[in-house]
Amino acid sequence: MAVEPQVREDHQKLYFVEDRQAPSPAWRGLLPISAFYFAWIGLAWLSSLYGRTTIDLAAGILLLGGIGVTNGLLAILSLAAPRDTADSGHSAVATAQTGLAIAWTTVYAVLADGPGELVLGMYLTAVLVAFSCVSSMRLRLLGFAAAGGYAMSLAVRYLSTTEATSSLAGDALQAISVALMIAVLGRRARQTEATNHNLTRRVDQLQQEVERVSRSAERDFLTKSFNRQYIMDALVREKARADRTGRSFSVVIFDLDRFKSLNDTHGHLVGDRVLAAFAQRAKRALRSMDAINPTRFRRALGRLGGEEFIAVLPGTEVGGALRCAERVRESMASEPVDGELSITVSAGVAEYRRGEALAEFLTRADQALYAAKRGGRNRVRVGVIKTTPDGGGQKPKLRIIR
Ligand code: GH3
Ligand code: MG
Ligand code: MG
Repeated sequence: MAVEPQVREDHQKLYFVEDRQAPSPAWRGLLPISAFYFAWIGLAWLSSLYGRTTIDLAAGILLLGGIGVTNGLLAILSLAAPRDTADSGHSAVATAQTGLAIAWTTVYAVLADGPGELVLGMYLTAVLVAFSCVSSMRLRLLGFAAAGGYAMSLAVRYLSTTEATSSLAGDALQAISVALMIAVLGRRARQTEATNHNLTRRVDQLQQEVERVSRSAERDFLTKSFNRQYIMDALVREKARADRTGRSFSVVIFDLDRFKSLNDTHGHLVGDRVLAAFAQRAKRALRSMDAINPTRFRRALGRLGGEEFIAVLPGTEVGGALRCAERVRESMASEPVDGELSITVSAGVAEYRRGEALAEFLTRADQALYAAKRGGRNRVRVGVIKTTPDGGGQKPKLRIIR
């Protein structure tokens, strides 16, 4: 057996990034409608400048003051809205402010003389501005409010003046066309809402699928232990952590004994069952010892290939690793697989030395495993670095201590 000396040093993983937007604060609902006020107050001012509309000073002051006070109050309320309800708060503020815009447009339509060419545009833009930030239900309510406000302003105008009926017909036609536009908008809002809902559901499903696929991409199908790629990445991470923190870790390489002859005698399917049984027993043995693991990083069993496995033991010194390996060996030797297949395992243990190359470290474990095989199988050996007389030797000279 040869452990590939080249260990991939990069360990990029594909993560599905949660990029849904954070809830926007309630005051954000104020922004679109504020633009609405600026635009329409400017147009109403131009209209009166060119003599198209007249409004007396008191009515103008009442309008501007009313708009300022009511929207100021709303701004204060929205700033005080708690952050955890910020998302629905945003929509509630936009709804309230659009409602106010509709109300003030109606007041303007009633108080001003000749504002007909402006008010329909005001109602429509108010509802349009709310389109993207309120629910379709609220949008329809706002549409009804706009239609009602316009009908009311017309009624007030016709009851208080004696205008020609041709003007009434024109106003009615305009009102119908605006009602149609608002109805279309309401429908479109409902469709957008349904699409958004579907999209959110799809994104959730996709995220679950990505998690499932990335989990299975880490696993060996037959033994449900980690695959070689994952375990090599885990080793790179452990090495980096050990180099950074000085806290050591160990590995155990396992190799089932005389597995070829088991395959030859009983067939590959039985061999596969033995591999799965080994992984299951080994994981159980490692897990039962995880309680004494001083780090929060769990022990991991991976399949290197064929009938060879490796256990990565974070925060574990050689003594602990030896006990782990021994427990796994014992779990195989003490009980035949399927009650009849006696199979044993040999293991090589090594503790990482800070700064050591991963290839050297794995070679030490590998050499220990070979020593276990040479020593008669069904045993555990530890590979240690034999220091040279000058004290600095880091070459992987094997010394068997058990
Ligand atoms: P040793 O005690 O020295 O380790 O001897 P061994 O027979 O276990 O070692 P050897 O390397 O000669 O044989 C390993 C065998 O493992 C050969 C191959 O057919 C078998 N093998 C490798 N992968 C699989 C697998 O996925 N399923 C099965 N059933 N057998 C496998
Ligand atoms: Mg082998
Ligand atoms: Mg073998």
